[in-house]
Amino acid sequence: SRLLRARTFSFEAWRQTVLADNQHVNALVHIPESVDHGASDLPLHDVTVAVKDNICTKDMPTTCSSKILRDFTSPFDATVVELLKTAGAPIVGKANCDEFGMGSLNLYSAHGPVVNPYQPSTAPGRERERRSAGGSSGGSAAAVASNMCHASLGTDTGGSIRLPASYCGVVGLKPSYGIISRWGVISYADSLDCVGVFGSSVDYVRRVFGILAQYDSRDPSAATPETRAEADVECQRHMANWTDASSLSGLRIGIPQEYFPAELSRAVVAPLKTLIASLRDRGATIVPVSLPSTQYALSAYYVIASAEASSNLARYDGIEYGLRVDPPKTADTTKTANVYAHTRTEGFGAEVQKRILLGTYALTADAFDNYFLQAQRLRARVRTDFDHVFRARNVLSSSPHRAAAPDGVDVLLHPSAIQTAPLLDAARADGDLSAYVQDVLTVPASLAGLPAMSVPVGTGSDGWPIGASVVGQWGCDEVVLRVGQVIE
Ligand code: GLN
Repeated sequence: SRLLRARTFSFEAWRQTVLADNQHVNALVHIPESVDHGASDLPLHDVTVAVKDNICTKDMPTTCSSKILRDFTSPFDATVVELLKTAGAPIVGKANCDEFGMGSLNLYSAHGPVVNPYQPSTAPGRERERRSAGGSSGGSAAAVASNMCHASLGTDTGGSIRLPASYCGVVGLKPSYGIISRWGVISYADSLDCVGVFGSSVDYVRRVFGILAQYDSRDPSAATPETRAEADVECQRHMANWTDASSLSGLRIGIPQEYFPAELSRAVVAPLKTLIASLRDRGATIVPVSLPSTQYALSAYYVIASAEASSNLARYDGIEYGLRVDPPKTADTTKTANVYAHTRTEGFGAEVQKRILLGTYALTADAFDNYFLQAQRLRARVRTDFDHVFRARNVLSSSPHRAAAPDGVDVLLHPSAIQTAPLLDAARADGDLSAYVQDVLTVPASLAGLPAMSVPVGTGSDGWPIGASVVGQWGCDEVVLRVGQVIE
C-alpha cells in the first residue's frame, strides 16, 4: 500500500509508449517489467531516471553496449544507483551508449546506434532525418529528449555527456572529477571518468546531482569531505559578488578565444553571439580570455584515455565473467592465452580493439616517454591554463597557492560542439577521425577535472539544437548550475 500511495505515474502506460518510441530511437537497451516507486516524501519520488549501461545495476543487465558483456548482470548496484533508489527515484531502464564509453556519435554499440529524437519545427512533412544523438552517452540524452524519463545518468570521460546533450537539446552536467562516486561504474579511463546527469531542465539536473554528490569511501578517487568543504568556501566567496537574482552584475564570464576553432560551423556561432550579448545586457562582465594549451588537449586526451583503457579492459579475459570463446578444436586448447585471444577478438568491437592497441603501444618502453609522459605534461599545462583564468583558486592544485586573481572569471562559456548533430549515415562514412574531432571543445575540462555543463541555447540554421558549455573551477559545480539556470 505504501508503494501504491506513492505511485506518481502509471508505469504500464509509460512502458507501452516507451516501447513504441524506443523502436525508432533505440535509446534504452533494457526496460524493466516493473519499477519500484519511492514513497512520496522522498526527494526524487517524482523523477524517473534512466541509467547508462556502463553503470552496474543488480536487477538489470549491464552490457557496456559490448558483446563481451552481453549477458552480464552485476551482483551489486553502483553507489549512484543505490543513492537514486534511496531517494525514491523510479529507475526506468538502461541506456544505450558507445561500447565502453568509447565514441562520440553512439555508432559503436552492440545494440545499434541511437537515433536523435529531436524534431526540427521548421520541417513539417519533411522526411525525418536520421541524425546522431551523440556519444558516448547517446541513449541517456535521447531518453530525456524523447520524454522517456525526466533525467538520466551518463558518464563523461572526454565529452560523453556534453556532446549528446548539445546534439539532442537537453541539459547535461559533467561534475568536477571525484565529486560523484565511481564505485560500480565500469572504468574506461579512471583519471578522467565522471558520472553525470542529463535532464530536461537545469532544475532536474540539480535535484539529481544534489542526491549523488556525496563522498563515498568505496571510491578511492572520491574527493574527501574536507576538500569539498574547502572548495565550497572558495567558490561561495567569489559568488558572493553575485547575489542579486534580477541582475548578473558581479558575474564575470570568460570567453576563451581558442574555443572558436576553424572547424566550428558558422551555424553554431550566431546563437552563441546572441547569448553573450544578452548576458552582457543583463549586467554580466564578458571577458575575452586565452587558454593557449587547448590546441594540445585532444591529442593528449586520446593518448591518456587509450592508455588507461588498455589497462582497464585487460580484465575481460573470457575466464572470470562475460563472453567466453573457446579456440577451435584444432588449436592447443590447454593454453589459456587462446581463450583470452579468441574471446577478446570476438567480444570487442573494432573501435575498442583499436584503443587497446593504441594504449598498449603508448605504454611500451619505446613509446612511453614520447607519448604517455608527454601527454601527462600537456595535461598539466591545460590544467594550469584554467587555473590562471579563474577567480577562484583550485583547491586541488599542489603548486604554491596563487592569490585569487581579482581580474579572473567565475565561469567560462563556449560552444559545446563544433556543429549540430551529424547525419548518422554521413558520420558512419566519415570514419573515426571525424568522431575524434567532435570532442575538441570538451576534452580540456575533462583533462583538468573541471565541472562543465551543456545547456541548450537555440538552434542552428538547420533547425537542430545547439548547446553552450559553462565551465567552472574545480568544486564550483553549484556556480556552474546557477549560471546554467540563467542561460537556459
Ligand atoms: N569521444 C571520447 C572518446 O571516445 C569521449 C568519450 C567519453 O567521454 N566517454 O574517448
